[in-house]
Amino acid sequence: MERKHFLRLLAGTFGAMTLSSFKNLTDELQSQEHVMPVFFIGHGSPMNAIETNSFSETWRKLPSQIPLPRAVLCISAHWLTRGTSVTAMAHPKTIHDFGGFPQALFDVQYPAPGSPELAAETQKLITSTKVEADHDWGLDHGTWSIIKQMYPDAKIPVFQLSIDYYKPAAYHYALAKELAQLRRKGVLIVGSGNMVHNLGMVDFARINDDDYGYDWAHEMNTIFKDKINKGDHTALMNYETLNKAARLAIPTPDHYYPLIYSLGLQEKRDHVSFFNDKAVAGSLTMTSVRIDR
Ligand code: ZN
Repeated sequence: MERKHFLRLLAGTFGAMTLSSFKNLTDELQSQEHVMPVFFIGHGSPMNAIETNSFSETWRKLPSQIPLPRAVLCISAHWLTRGTSVTAMAHPKTIHDFGGFPQALFDVQYPAPGSPELAAETQKLITSTKVEADHDWGLDHGTWSIIKQMYPDAKIPVFQLSIDYYKPAAYHYALAKELAQLRRKGVLIVGSGNMVHNLGMVDFARINDDDYGYDWAHEMNTIFKDKINKGDHTALMNYETLNKAARLAIPTPDHYYPLIYSLGLQEKRDHVSFFNDKAVAGSLTMTSVRIDR
């Protein structure tokens, strides 16, 4: 075809294109945009890092269901700070932040590299507050117990964002939204905590029973899932008034705030699904959320 004929044809094509078909085309292009999923993962006992059980088996299968991430950013219940920090070291150490577990758990090392580059990018993306570059923390068990099962060869860079424990849920929800661009840069963002988490009421005698939760734990699990399914994030941020059992499920919000980060990253076109939807030892749930499109 001669060039001028081709150009005329092209002009005709675009000329005939209605506004709505142009909108469909741009929607189509946007839907092909590569956006990484976001997880909230219930981590439970640190022993899940080295045990083979239904929870860890599910974690091991997750990588085959998603694109290979460029890096993993974890918001762990176990890094609570004043102000917000991001781990910025090239080689984060493995932190054994627990007591009373077998030596085998203390022997675990997870030598994944960090990502000073993505840490700097995270500092730039968050404009609502100053994010400090951290060189002391590393990877705590909220992060490595899960990520080690997902990516055992420790080749993918892992970095963490701390939780400013002096701020309310709505603050964390808004802060999470500032991380949205990382999903488009191949970063897998994982909130690591537990929706129902009352260590003081754990029934150690029944720690191995399948899906063993107190009535109120199951009740709260159902309420959490219902609100997540409906996208009622406002209700989830005002968790104290969700139900009278909320105070038992969330005596302190450390393990709940990572969920708020994951939900803050949910976008209009995303859908949610659940996995590891079980109670443990009466007063914990492992219920996890996948946000994807
Ligand atoms: Zn924990």
